[in-house]
Amino acid sequence: MVSLPLAQVPRPSVRRADVSDAQWTDWRWQLAHMLTTADELAGAVALSPAEHAGFAASKELFRVGITPYYAALMDAEHASCPIRMQAIPRAVEADVRDEELRDPLGEDSHNPAPSIVHKYPDRVLFLVVDRCGIYCRHCNRRRLVGGDDPPTTADLEAGLAYIARTPRVRDVLLSGGDPLLLSTRRLGYLLGRLRAIPHVETIRIGTRLPVVCPMRIDAELVAMLRQHHPLFINTHFNHARELTPEARAGCERLVDAGIPVGNQTVLLRGINSSVQALRALMRGLLRSRVKPYYLFQGDTVIGTDHLRTPVEEAMRLYEGLRGWMNGMAVPMLVLDAPGGFGKVPIVPSYIESLTETEVIVRTYRGARIAYPQPRERDCTVPYDRIYFAGAPPDDDTEGTVSNLSSSPPATP
Ligand code: SF4
Repeated sequence: MVSLPLAQVPRPSVRRADVSDAQWTDWRWQLAHMLTTADELAGAVALSPAEHAGFAASKELFRVGITPYYAALMDAEHASCPIRMQAIPRAVEADVRDEELRDPLGEDSHNPAPSIVHKYPDRVLFLVVDRCGIYCRHCNRRRLVGGDDPPTTADLEAGLAYIARTPRVRDVLLSGGDPLLLSTRRLGYLLGRLRAIPHVETIRIGTRLPVVCPMRIDAELVAMLRQHHPLFINTHFNHARELTPEARAGCERLVDAGIPVGNQTVLLRGINSSVQALRALMRGLLRSRVKPYYLFQGDTVIGTDHLRTPVEEAMRLYEGLRGWMNGMAVPMLVLDAPGGFGKVPIVPSYIESLTETEVIVRTYRGARIAYPQPRERDCTVPYDRIYFAGAPPDDDTEGTVSNLSSSPPATP
């Protein structure tokens, strides 16, 4: 019998039809069988020349990793499929522009402790893992994820210690990488440690696993998570095609456990940059009991220029949502100011003019309407003095330009 060298041993098919139900619905199996090469993916789709070239270049760009579940959602016929465009690299990623940044959100200059990013006054990012269930071609943290340098136990302890000694931190957002890639026991341990810190009021988890590996949202995970309320999950659907029955059921299991689920969509040129695509996504999310939270203008991260939309187009798309849909389905359109200066709403103005007596507003249908201003101008709340008697003032404005003696903050 001839034995093949290891590299030539054909990999068993991971297509849905060739895999048992028990394997397919096992999140560990999905993650252990992620597709990482053109040859592996060829079983799912016929790669276009641009995708082949992207794979060839991806070693120097950003790693590739796609769960069999997510690969099964790909349109085998059309390279313009939104699943393919999010997951399969294209050679244009190597066309890096001068203004593109490795760290567009300035996270590396706001880390007072290992695994901690502290940019906003009352909340921190806690980066607990460096692996994901997909490596999105638009990822703004590609410098950190998919490598071989996971946070150590000492890093996580240092992060917990920072949060514990920083009373202004009321909210912790677990991210990475994808925190749901930790074992349920490990994640539960970290959540328990955070919950033991008295000033941590809310905990959030950012995860794309409900989208790319919904089987991860199993009964064991949900039973653990519900012990740590108030807990919120933010997930990341970008196209209605991702809202499969499995993904919707995963989100509903979380909601049924009392965990509010929000969604952050990245506006991606040619993937979801149409009013029709965005409306379908936002309506589908709401039907799945997921609240559309943010719609992000693309960050200026290296290798993603081809995926960004012009800002004026983003605003035009937003105007196709606001007013035309249930307000619950309309996310906030924001731009993350390059350099780590935080999120800025880029909502188009619906105010045409404003005086002390009258405001002229433009409705979503384009009509101009006068809104009379009230006569009284004093908005002081007398009961504040009673209700908040003895409480410290909530006047945290550290770092605002008006609080600085000289020029605006320099780029971190
Ligand atoms: S799941 Fe999030 S962190 Fe991971 S590659 Fe995608 S965008 Fe980046």
